[in-house]
Amino acid sequence: MSENPQVDPPKRPVLITVNEKWCKKCGICISFCPKGVFIPDDVGKPIVKSPEQCIQCMLCEIRCPDFAIEIEEKKKDRPTTE
Ligand code: SF4
Ligand code: SF4
Repeated sequence: MSENPQVDPPKRPVLITVNEKWCKKCGICISFCPKGVFIPDDVGKPIVKSPEQCIQCMLCEIRCPDFAIEIEEKKKDRPTTE
């Protein structure tokens, strides 16, 4: 037996929200994200480009000096009532 299931953590559906009013376009989240989830737009504001790559390490949320990023795990079984 030589299985190693922990090579890459399982990716769970995640909701990544950037509060545009609070973001000051410092680029820290873009630099710290180990998965390249964000890309900067033409003024340096982070765009969530590849949310499916997110491993929920929370670095962006923790490092953002303006608390502008929120990482939430999507609830798969939540009924859609909206
Ligand atoms: S770290 Fe926060 S303030 Fe800086 S670019 Fe990212 S979201 Fe904006
Ligand atoms: S939680 Fe981690 S992997 Fe996901 S967007 Fe933030 S820094 Fe990138």
